[in-house]
Amino acid sequence: MTDTPRRAARKRLEQEIFDVLIIGGGINGAVTAAALSASGVKVALLEQRDFGSGTSQESSNLVWGGIKYLESYEFGLVWELCRSRNELMRHYPGEVSELRFFTNLERGFRKSRWLVYLGALLYWAMGRFKTKPPRLLGKDEIAREEPQVATDRSQGGLEYSDSYLRDNDARFVFNFVMRASRCGAVTVNYVSAVAASLSADKVWHVSAKDETSGEAFAVGAKILINAAGPYVDAFNKLCGVKTVHQHIFSKGVHLIVPRINKSDRVLTFFADDGRLFFAIPMGDCSCIGTTDTRVTDLPAVVTEADRRFILSNINKRLVLAKPLTTSDIIAERCGVRPLVIKGNAKDFAKVEWAHLSRKHIIECHREDAHISIFGGKLTDCLNIGRELVDHVSQLGVKAKLAPRWYGEDSVAYKQDLIAKLKSLPIDDHHWLGEGTIADRLWRLYGHDALSIVESMRRSPDLCTKLIDDQPVLLGEVAYMADYEMIHHLDDLLRRRTRLSLVVPKDKLRDSAVLRKAATLLFRERAEIEWQTYFGPQN
Ligand SMILES: Cc1cc2nc3c(=O)[nH]c(=O)nc-3n(C[C@H](O)[C@H](O)[C@H](O)COP(=O)(O)OP(=O)(O)OC[C@H]3O[C@@H](n4cnc5c(N)ncnc54)[C@H](O)[C@@H]3O)c2cc1C
Repeated sequence: MTDTPRRAARKRLEQEIFDVLIIGGGINGAVTAAALSASGVKVALLEQRDFGSGTSQESSNLVWGGIKYLESYEFGLVWELCRSRNELMRHYPGEVSELRFFTNLERGFRKSRWLVYLGALLYWAMGRFKTKPPRLLGKDEIAREEPQVATDRSQGGLEYSDSYLRDNDARFVFNFVMRASRCGAVTVNYVSAVAASLSADKVWHVSAKDETSGEAFAVGAKILINAAGPYVDAFNKLCGVKTVHQHIFSKGVHLIVPRINKSDRVLTFFADDGRLFFAIPMGDCSCIGTTDTRVTDLPAVVTEADRRFILSNINKRLVLAKPLTTSDIIAERCGVRPLVIKGNAKDFAKVEWAHLSRKHIIECHREDAHISIFGGKLTDCLNIGRELVDHVSQLGVKAKLAPRWYGEDSVAYKQDLIAKLKSLPIDDHHWLGEGTIADRLWRLYGHDALSIVESMRRSPDLCTKLIDDQPVLLGEVAYMADYEMIHHLDDLLRRRTRLSLVVPKDKLRDSAVLRKAATLLFRERAEIEWQTYFGPQN
């Protein structure tokens, strides 16, 4: 995004009074902005860093019904999450893909494989039979179909279905931000809300700071929505708002390593702590995890103990030519799950972690026109969007939700895209975990992929890949420079694409095409951005 549209957005923030101001551009804030702006509400959204750069970029990328919650008898939650999962699968057929969870159970596990299989059948039924049915697996079948799974202590297992975000959680969030902007919302990244107060005439005045320039300014709105994820409590404190609910935090870490298995299956185990543990396909890599550790301080960081836990658990459960070590780690992901509690965090110090509900809560203070979103899941995002439209209309703002406020563009145009791509000098094939370049462009940009291809037709040098063995094209960056509000190299590498998760940093640094991309995005700032990301010696 060039400076001019950003300046225009900034100006609007300062000059207009909005119906709703949303603090936080994670999944909860983004989906709320998309739903409200598609309901005719005048919306602004402030994100202190980049969109999706909080907890939302650290998830397991699963869109799932939460099979593990069956064990704690949270049938209502599973029923609802399965419904949400099915809805996302139906409306995002490219991005939200069904995949099989190939589960090995060790002898002595707390449940027999028959019981777990019965649970999977129940889960399938709760998912309204919208996925392939579960399959009971003998030890020999496991060894034959996924030979890297260690079966010496196996009692057999099962395979069941759920779905995942094929690209990237942060990109999924960003696409809701784009939707909101297209419907007229003013969505600005790198702007923090630093204080807020409600005036006597019932307008929220939020003090904001532009993190790119240090400038301070104020934004006014009739309703304030706090969607700051793990920082919801901290921001409420700044506003002087007292809530019944609060968050406590569970840290979750994933490590990304070169692809363990070539199939598109999630290898599923129970780790030493008895929790579900996955090796999830991520392009030509595998994302392994996760941990679940109580923390009180933010931001949470990856510790040596986290790495040891993940590597020792995966090594125990696989037969690899060489066990995985820290030198195999391409990238790390670390976030906190904001878990909702009612009351004081101290009262929950001894509560069994797994027994805390993962359901979101929306707390609406009518008299202050203030709403806080607690908890949530990527999977449940559409419900959050719809619920917020209801709350906002109950607070007196006219809001009528358009039926098609989410979902991928009609596939009718995808055929045009495939035909146009064929005429370009692009070496396309089926990329592991990605599909073809046409599939990928369609998932990420929808209908706009046609204009990206058109610009590549006009300038064939835009057909170059940023990194040789990754299907990301320079033409995409040219499009992003105009439309995707990129301020730093990390926005491109970690969130608009997932290159920094699947490509080692020195390989990124060596790419001349990536340098060209930085020039396209940052112009005279390119060298500074490059050095900030890769270090000054380069
Ligand atoms: C390890 C892990 C695995 C998970 N796996 C899954 C999964 O597979 N599937 C699933 O459905 N869910 C999963 N989740 C849950 C899901 O990721 C989170 O519930 C969800 O992303 C939270 O989104 P959010 O918008 O509330 O918070 P965030 O994504 O953290 O967004 C809040 C935003 O507010 C911004 N902000 C804070 N304060 C301010 C301020 N003062 N001014 C401006 N901006 C501000 C932050 O910068 C941040 O970007 C997982 C979570 C974790 C931690």
